[in-house]
Formats: sequence, C-alpha cells, structure tokens
Amino acid sequence: MPSKDYDKFDIVEMKKPHACQSNRWQIIRMGMDIRIRCENCQHVVTLTRRDFDKKLKKVLVKHQDSSEA
Ligand SMILES: [Zn+2]
Repeated sequence: MPSKDYDKFDIVEMKKPHACQSNRWQIIRMGMDIRIRCENCQHVVTLTRRDFDKKLKKVLVKHQDSSEA
C-alpha cells in the first residue's frame, strides 16, 4: 500500500491551517505518533499516524538527507 512520502524534519501542509493562520508544520517526531510543530507560533500537535495521513495535504519541503555530502 503506497504511503505518503514524508519523514522527520520535513515541512508539511495540512488540510486545515492552524488557528494562527499559518499552514507550515515541521515534523519533529516520527514514531507510533507523529509530532508536528507550527512554524509560525511553535505550537506542537501530536497525531496518530492514521490521523496524520488523513490530515496531511502535502509535503512542502523535503529535509535534506544528511548522508549526502
Ligand atoms: Zn500556529
């Protein structure tokens, strides 16, 4: 089953903007739950993977792979 291409430190856009009107979130934790932080107001939200998949609109910025010299 194809899953959306996202990873830790990527910047993502959600289907609904945050209350502060910003819609740029950084993934700060990937695990059983996914934790994202609003780039504007630094508010942190924790979602289950399932919820995150449902609410994710798109990945805006892929984090650079640090293994790339
Ligand atoms: Zn915010």
